[in-house]
Amino acid sequence: MAIENVVIIGSGPAGWSAAIYAARAQLDPLVFEGAITEENRLAGTLPLGQLSLTTEVENYAGFPAGNVEHYLADALSADRAEPLLYALKQRRKHAAHSHQEAITGPELMELMRQQALNFGTRVETDDIVRVDFKSRPFKLLASSGQSVEARTVIVATGARANYLGLASEENYKNRGVSACAVCDGALPRFRNKPLVVVGGGDSAVEEATYLAKFASVVHLVHRRDQLRASKIMVERAISNPKIQINWNTAVDEIVGNDKDGVTGARLVDTTGKGTREVEASGVFMAIGHTPNTRFLEGQLQLNDQGYVVWKEPFRTITSRPGVFAAGDVADDYYRQAVTSAGTGCMAALDAERYLAHAP
Ligand code: NAP
Repeated sequence: MAIENVVIIGSGPAGWSAAIYAARAQLDPLVFEGAITEENRLAGTLPLGQLSLTTEVENYAGFPAGNVEHYLADALSADRAEPLLYALKQRRKHAAHSHQEAITGPELMELMRQQALNFGTRVETDDIVRVDFKSRPFKLLASSGQSVEARTVIVATGARANYLGLASEENYKNRGVSACAVCDGALPRFRNKPLVVVGGGDSAVEEATYLAKFASVVHLVHRRDQLRASKIMVERAISNPKIQINWNTAVDEIVGNDKDGVTGARLVDTTGKGTREVEASGVFMAIGHTPNTRFLEGQLQLNDQGYVVWKEPFRTITSRPGVFAAGDVADDYYRQAVTSAGTGCMAALDAERYLAHAP
């Protein structure tokens, strides 16, 4: 069995950026982009990562709104471009007025993937389910049964947003239900409309504060009578006239219809004082993320929440020399596409330098 120089696990912005850099450094990288299975669909871990679950991406530098139709048709193979072009046509059909569109998450991810392929990256549409980082070369086992040996590995498996687990929530994902205010908050459907944010941590308060810039009112829904968020964030929320904090409250149903998507939420008092409905055009989940690291347990140092630990500041070095981590799998703080791409680049450079000095 040939020993790979670099195996990259994961296919979000971190994985593809690592692949572009590793391929251009002539390391002949192999990417495991994940398997296309119902289990992965339900978990939000299909190939192309969290961005493939979002709509417009307006904050990734280099992609101002414009007509991406010709670019997609030109840059991608016909079979990969076709579903995107179909989706684009459908969006335009239903758009209230014609306007320039921002690139979407799936489009951006397909372009990143293609860019990595253009430099010779090889791709397996398979999940890595087990690793042995204690032996050298490292050993990786895929869900298909395929096994691979590698001198270096870049873990870029990302994280998945936590959701409440309601059927109605699944039904309205991308039609008003979101787990990323920064990604989706400025979309026209949320402007000057009431919104709901669920959670009581820093993310929830930050998202509520961010959304308050666009929304008519933000209902912050928290299950307890005290926020977990830091003091300064709490003060910011309490003093914002557009944020209404609903203490001891949980969302027990998301209300909507096929035409408008989300129109409201049914709230239940967690101390037993009954339910009520609020009007809302969006419900934003901010109840934490779960890193995709189960397959790494016992192999790499993980923090209390299961994120891979970087052993040196501003280096993608993990507890195992030769294994690097990039993107949300090692980041419980910034969690942006652009920061993921940046750390993907760093991991490829770290792997290249490691290989140059490896015994
Ligand atoms: P977090 O601190 O774990 O907070 C999650 C919140 O969601 C908690 O309030 C929790 O309620 C609630 N929650 C969890 N499961 C729930 C469920 N099933 N139903 C209803 N509510 C549920 O997560 P985070 O806010 O994403 O923050 C993660 C880390 O990033 C933290 O260390 C945070 O400080 C940091 N961060 C910092 C900033 C900043 O400083 N600007 C911004 C964002 C994040 P309970 O409180 O009842 O457990």
